[in-house]
Amino acid sequence: MISDLTLLIRRWSAWSHARGFGFSFECQGRYTRLWRTCTSEANCVSLGSHLAHVDGSFADPEKIRELANKVDVLTVEIEHVDATTLEEVRLAGQGNKLAVHPSPSTIQIIQDKFRQKQHLASHGLPVSDFVAIESSVDSISDVAQKLGLPLMLKSRTMAYDGRGNFVLREVGQSQEAIQFLGNRPLYAEKWVPFSKEIAVMVVRTVDGEVQSYPVVETVHKDNICHLVFAPLRSRNASLSQRARSVAENAIKTFSGAGVFGVEMFLMEDGNIFINEIAPRPHNSGHYTIEACETSQYENHLRAILSLPLGSTALKVPAAAMLNLIGYSSSMAEITETTNVALSIPGASVHLYGKSECRKGRKMGHITIVADSDAQLRRRLRPLLESLPGSTP
Ligand code: ADP
Ligand code: MG
Repeated sequence: MISDLTLLIRRWSAWSHARGFGFSFECQGRYTRLWRTCTSEANCVSLGSHLAHVDGSFADPEKIRELANKVDVLTVEIEHVDATTLEEVRLAGQGNKLAVHPSPSTIQIIQDKFRQKQHLASHGLPVSDFVAIESSVDSISDVAQKLGLPLMLKSRTMAYDGRGNFVLREVGQSQEAIQFLGNRPLYAEKWVPFSKEIAVMVVRTVDGEVQSYPVVETVHKDNICHLVFAPLRSRNASLSQRARSVAENAIKTFSGAGVFGVEMFLMEDGNIFINEIAPRPHNSGHYTIEACETSQYENHLRAILSLPLGSTALKVPAAAMLNLIGYSSSMAEITETTNVALSIPGASVHLYGKSECRKGRKMGHITIVADSDAQLRRRLRPLLESLPGSTP
């Protein structure tokens, strides 16, 4: 069982970043197998040779039903799935002990950012002010009066990597914002003048127990995660514990097992607001593959398979993760950075095997581990200098 699990995690970690695919697991006695539903055969992973994977979209009810019929445990690595069908198969499969993790109701709440914020606020968790709006200039003007400028306008659904956000700096931009955000339901968030963005991965067992990973600092560029530093450094000794408690308390309010990413804003005065939650392995947790005793992927599998969780502790003094984000339709710039990484001690390159490179698309990441913060900075510098547009 354990060696199967190790193989499965290694293969999943390698493939999981080609986002947009669902996973399922089957546990039969000693064996655990993995399939992914996918839109192209080239992107499939299948462990276990006698049962084929299912090719198809995670938003296709028929494909979800087909997959559910073959497996004992069903999980996801993206929240934009058809959660209604997941709930249907969960109810239909209860007699056959089909488990769906995290629960479809959790995915439903999280996939609508406005509902997610309402859920967190109703449980007394710290979030900044937010208001549902119509896609109209009048509605945006009203909310700008109420919450002030700048104002963060967000799509409630189908948003990722900043692609559902518009920063409204003046009311005159309202029409532009509506056009940019397209035909999606919207809401507005009060602007948060944070001093840092931080994040915590939390793993939740089938019995609802939670365990958190160390707090990390995340650095975003153009609304996309650019760098992650672990652990968070702060002169305030109690900050990390407080941030871990906020994240753990948030995940306690949801149902179902698995790993969750909790993105937070840290204010100058030490206050913390939750930005958003991901019900799956998360970009801010990729560093755990090399830097923690148990990676986010392994603990996700352990949680949904009702195995004991592994330690979430760091096993190195310092770690950083650099996202490899496409600059154009060519992989040339990415390759330049990965070539530099190959000569840096403690650097591990992860490429996701995506068939096309595009500006703003996450193509891979590099993790660096080090014995000290100073060594980490020294190892990171040549990588940052290799990025297009960097000033040497
Ligand atoms: P995504 O789903 O694309 O990650 P987020 O809601 O996390 O979208 O927003 C992306 C980034 O935009 C955040 O990491 C943060 O840098 C910035 N951001 C989001 N909400 C706010 C806000 N209310 N005030 C200021 N900055 C924000
Ligand atoms: Mg985010």
